[in-house]
Amino acid sequence: MAQCMQEHHDPEGNPAMSGTVSPSSRPSPRTVLISGASIAGPALAHWLHRYGFAVTVVERAPELRTGGYKVDIRGAAVEVAERMGILADIQRASTDMRTGAYVNDDGKRIATLPAAIFGARVGRDDEIMRGDLARILYERTRADVEYVFGDSITSLTERADEHGHGSDGTGGVEVTFERGAPRRFDLVVGADGVHSNVRRLAFGPEEQFVRHLGAYISAFSLPNELGLDREELYHAVPGRLSCVYSSAGDPEAKGLLTFRSPRLAYDHRQPDRQLALLDAAFKGVGVRPSEGWTQIPRLLEAARAADDFYFDGLQLVEMDRWSRGRVVLLGDAAHCPSPASGQGTGMALVGAYVLAGELAVAGRGPEEAFDRYEKEMRGYVAVNHALAEKFAKDMTADTRRQIRFRHLMMRILPYMPWKNLVAKKIAEEVQRGANAITLKDHPVLVAAGRHAPTAGHAPATGHAPAAGSPTYAA
Ligand SMILES: Cc1cc2nc3c(=O)[nH]c(=O)nc-3n(C[C@H](O)[C@H](O)[C@H](O)COP(=O)(O)OP(=O)(O)OC[C@H]3O[C@@H](n4cnc5c(N)ncnc54)[C@H](O)[C@@H]3O)c2cc1C
Repeated sequence: MAQCMQEHHDPEGNPAMSGTVSPSSRPSPRTVLISGASIAGPALAHWLHRYGFAVTVVERAPELRTGGYKVDIRGAAVEVAERMGILADIQRASTDMRTGAYVNDDGKRIATLPAAIFGARVGRDDEIMRGDLARILYERTRADVEYVFGDSITSLTERADEHGHGSDGTGGVEVTFERGAPRRFDLVVGADGVHSNVRRLAFGPEEQFVRHLGAYISAFSLPNELGLDREELYHAVPGRLSCVYSSAGDPEAKGLLTFRSPRLAYDHRQPDRQLALLDAAFKGVGVRPSEGWTQIPRLLEAARAADDFYFDGLQLVEMDRWSRGRVVLLGDAAHCPSPASGQGTGMALVGAYVLAGELAVAGRGPEEAFDRYEKEMRGYVAVNHALAEKFAKDMTADTRRQIRFRHLMMRILPYMPWKNLVAKKIAEEVQRGANAITLKDHPVLVAAGRHAPTAGHAPATGHAPAAGSPTYAA
């Protein structure tokens, strides 16, 4: 029988073993199914595996999704990345942006600022492409975690076993899938984003929990025809903001189109309708000089041609509870702060650390761990939701006058004696959100010779995947 050891973290985040505890305290690894292989899901998988859980991640996409905008890793998230041992990977993959500038209709730079001021980053804060971070997390976990691509959960049923149900550690969740055979897990985690499938199944329709902040955003790759080198260019017209940038090591550029709008009716899984909405929002912009940035028609065309087109509303997920029985939500599924906050990815990393840590130190019943996870995270989430609401209003300007004023401010800022104070003030607000949590150190019990499933392994609980079922990547 496996020896159990007490684990603490050294500053690198590597487990340092000390002392033994009774082997009988962990009879078999607890099994966890995570829905969603983006940021929150693989980050949680990383920690749970280290804590001795047997982890399966199911992802609806047929392969790892690598699209998306650049995302910030700040404050507490930097600390979590360090404890995970991925901070150096993040730094290597950093966007390494140099400058951000506003341009006029002809693309002439009218105001340029250093990227760190633009992004309100301080100290070890960094910026990385969302897809690069997803890949780092996946590569870190794929050998130890069972990944199932191209499938999705269709039902969750909590079952008691002959010993009872709940906090005594017995019982589990029976899960059915679109493609794979049914299986049973001790816990199920919804890390499947703002439109979470697990949330819908366990808590009800998304409309109850998702609040629209009045704007939409899309991101996509395009050829770097402007020859940008780690630079981002912004152009504003009333109610709309466009951006093109190129980051370190990426031969392509990324386009970003944002527009203000009340809630629109569309299926978040149907890009054709989303592209039509984007076209309508930017109709006429830039088709002639003096009617907006002449790059806009090219950007709309590129959005249509891109294979990584992303489109979503700026929205907050607001819930009274993040868990129900043995099912718990994580990352955007639980508390999406919208892209306006610049904190969604960091919060997903931090939430994964907190949830896994609480599960590791709790008994077999999850209720206490879920409660503590929620208590630790609530304040952090509230501060960032408030920031998101504020920033969402400022993302686009309503009038040409406001736009001219912003340009003027940016133009004079570098020459002002108080420029550092202004930059500090902006950064302070963002930093308050990024650091609004104190991370615990979690001493945990880990089975020596930790569970490490290999490709095609038989699941610890439940049934083997059906023939012809989705790809199992290990
Ligand atoms: C392709 C993509 C591009 C993005 N681009 C941006 C961007 O440009 N700017 C920005 O601010 N944020 C973007 N985001 C959101 C950003 O990644 C999140 O806000 C943040 O990182 C929190 O991550 P998360 O893991 O909680 O959720 P998400 O990153 O949203 O990940 C959810 C994952 O769950 C998967 N999933 C969804 N439904 C199911 C299902 N039924 N079964 C199994 N898996 C499912 C999704 O495919 C995805 O991989 C993007 C997300 C994705 C997936």
